[in-house]
Amino acid sequence: MSDPLEKISENVRKIISSLPAGTTVLAAAKGRTAAEIEAAVSAGVTHIGHNYVQEAARMLTGINPALRNSTTWHMIGHLQRNKTRAALECFDVIDTLDSLALAAEIEQRCQGKKISVLVEVNSALELNKSGIYPENVLSLLESLKVYPHMQVVGLMTMGPQCERPEELRPYFRVTRQVFDEAVRHYQPTLQILSMGMSDSYQIAVEEGATMIRIGTLLFGPRPVKG
Ligand SMILES: *Cc1c(COP(=O)(O)O)cnc(C)c1O
Repeated sequence: MSDPLEKISENVRKIISSLPAGTTVLAAAKGRTAAEIEAAVSAGVTHIGHNYVQEAARMLTGINPALRNSTTWHMIGHLQRNKTRAALECFDVIDTLDSLALAAEIEQRCQGKKISVLVEVNSALELNKSGIYPENVLSLLESLKVYPHMQVVGLMTMGPQCERPEELRPYFRVTRQVFDEAVRHYQPTLQILSMGMSDSYQIAVEEGATMIRIGTLLFGPRPVKG
């Protein structure tokens, strides 16, 4: 078990088998190699998240096309409007829709294709963070109805930096409440509630997450940039 790629596969199998049915693992791939991603996919990962458009584009050139086609790629980092066109070439889902202006840009650049998005929720009302405040999510969803190619499939939240994962529970809970309201009032096509990372996913799952975003626990500590 000293082979690092074998270790990744084992980590994937371990976490997937520990989750309740209906909970999906997204592999957070920042700083990882194509070989590491392939190891995760061979063990059952079907969703891959990237924080940066350029990094994703680079990885796509090194990845087996069959693997690309059998997986769903998510943009999980903040999307700058001037990167929208490039992002739409790499990603299947934009998980960080955080303004109407970005939605308008996506609509303009989508070339007639339907684009799946998650609305990012700023669940702790942090001033310096992106995302929509919980109280504004429903009206944003309403406004998005004018964009025919925008398919809102869920909500995602990061939550604040905390000492202990348990401190994130109220933010996951408030996001879940908005999610439930959105499903009721807006549309039943909302299916994904993406919250929780390596140190907090168990709490997120208890609070109703249907997708967890995991990096460290699958791939080990992130390599330090030299
Ligand atoms: C890196 C990252 C994760 C995963 O973080 P880990 O702590 O390594 O599991 C999840 N979500 C986003 C948006 C990230 O950037």
